[in-house]
Amino acid sequence: MFKTVYRILSVLLVLAAICGMAYKGRIKEDFENYKTRAIPALMYHSISEVPAGWPADLCVAPGVFEEHLQYLKAQGYNVVTAPQAVILLKSRQNVMNTVIVTFDDGYENNYTEAFPLLKKYGFRGNFYIVGNDVGKEKNQDGMKKYMSFAQIKEMHDQGMEIGSHSMSHDPLTSIKPELLPWEIYQPLNLFYQKMNFWISGIAFPNGAFNDAIIAEIRKYFKYEYGFSGQAGCNTLKIVEETPFALRRAGVYDRGNGAKDVEKVLQKCYVFGYLEEKGLPVILLDKARRLLPFI
Ligand SMILES: [Zn+2]
Repeated sequence: MFKTVYRILSVLLVLAAICGMAYKGRIKEDFENYKTRAIPALMYHSISEVPAGWPADLCVAPGVFEEHLQYLKAQGYNVVTAPQAVILLKSRQNVMNTVIVTFDDGYENNYTEAFPLLKKYGFRGNFYIVGNDVGKEKNQDGMKKYMSFAQIKEMHDQGMEIGSHSMSHDPLTSIKPELLPWEIYQPLNLFYQKMNFWISGIAFPNGAFNDAIIAEIRKYFKYEYGFSGQAGCNTLKIVEETPFALRRAGVYDRGNGAKDVEKVLQKCYVFGYLEEKGLPVILLDKARRLLPFI
């Protein structure tokens, strides 16, 4: 019995390998074509060493972050803002090697460390700010220091994209429904009052959203895009069909320098490609630990 199962599995494996070889050229071509119309988005938080009490995944040291930027430069990546990416996709241009680099939470080191490095390489960053935290120092899991309105405005005036990361950073899926309009719309008013520009994008705290949140955002046409926490790439189809659930993947320092960002980009392209082919990418993401080759 066991032997029979083993034989069947062997035959299937060989068949799969033959089919794989037959389609390899074709699949590779299709995947390369996908990459000409897909834009990944990378997510960072704190650009710092890991301070006492902080989760390591929130932090990428400035030196390591620069290695990531050097990799993007060497590979010829065009590092754009999210609104620029949407325009590029809607104009159906070839977007091979285009990427969006984002930062959540508004830590002061985004201004002191990330901003100068982005400028050094001629890149544009996207910063998603928590309304209530601007200019604050908070003792939450260790001391956290946030950018001031003056610092955020300076980055905006030099071409960086500024967006909302809600007012409180509470996951919008678990707050009282009556607080939802305040969480979503108050950052628009606050940033306009304090910095004299309107924002058009939101990154949901923890990437969490649901139908009620999307319905609230669609009510007044104040926002043009939003980031989910789902890995993959952004294509014309995605910006048209789910503009408030753009794909984005976290970059973490696993001690491999530029290799860490290279792997995340590859994951984005592969997941985006599989999603377009109708595969359940969310399940794949969960199974990723079992499938080290993706
Ligand atoms: Zn956050």
